Amino acid sequence: VVEVSNVTKSFGDHVVLRDVSLDVEQGSVTVVLGPSGSGKSTLLRTINHLEKVDRGQIHVDGDLIGYRRQGDRLHELRERDVLKQRSRIGFVFQDFNLFPHLTVLQNVAEAPISAQRRNRREVEDQAKELLERVGLADKAAAYPRQLSGGQQQRVAIARALALQPKVLLFDEPTSALDPELVGEVLDVIRSLADDGAAMVVVTHEIGFAREIADTVVFMDHGQIVESGPPSQVIDQPTHERTRAFIDRVL
Ligand code: ATP
Ligand code: MG
Repeated sequence: VVEVSNVTKSFGDHVVLRDVSLDVEQGSVTVVLGPSGSGKSTLLRTINHLEKVDRGQIHVDGDLIGYRRQGDRLHELRERDVLKQRSRIGFVFQDFNLFPHLTVLQNVAEAPISAQRRNRREVEDQAKELLERVGLADKAAAYPRQLSGGQQQRVAIARALALQPKVLLFDEPTSALDPELVGEVLDVIRSLADDGAAMVVVTHEIGFAREIADTVVFMDHGQIVESGPPSQVIDQPTHERTRAFIDRVL
């Protein structure tokens, strides 16, 4: 579903992604590991066009992200069309990013109603099901500030799912949580993987990565250094840089 082809991205003269290519198949889970500053967040952000690439292309479910092809030329999509593409890509951030003035239910139902123009009643029914699914059926009327970090992050996951996305992107979904709240969020993500959603997860939770990843990608200095099944990349890395990183975080 996601094809990142030869993507290069710089900020000023700092090259942050160097010729990165990545394929995420339908129903598979890709975990991205790498040191701070290696380009993991930037890679996720290019997938939904929060960052424009300098070179290369990204397709999600067959759609070229951010551009329209005309003959052999590419034209940038209008903001409205970018938003439409983005609405099919679920993004869960480190710091939840819930709307503070909306209830939990409204947070989950907002985008499908306003961006996807779906029927309110239907969306709210679905939102309730999603809240049940992440274990928060009883919190529908609460406001984000009344929830723990783990609960807020589970709302954020329900909100991403409400868009019925083709792919879910997670950027360090547990790194802002107190240690005792990490497990409940990982459990929810794990249950999604079992459902066959395509996911890209940036995390430092190596044990979790080993458990859910079909493919582990190790990034360093904007490059994919190695990728493969966890049994290879985590347990028997072939590159010195991967080995040094895994030793450090284990
Ligand atoms: P972390 O594990 O700390 O989240 P990361 O692997 O997600 O790191 P990125 O956030 O992708 O790393 O950043 C990669 C590099 O790009 C960093 O050196 C960062 O300072 C730089 N960078 C990211 N966003 C911008 C920006 N908007 N403008 C300038 N530089 C940026
Ligand atoms: Mg990051």
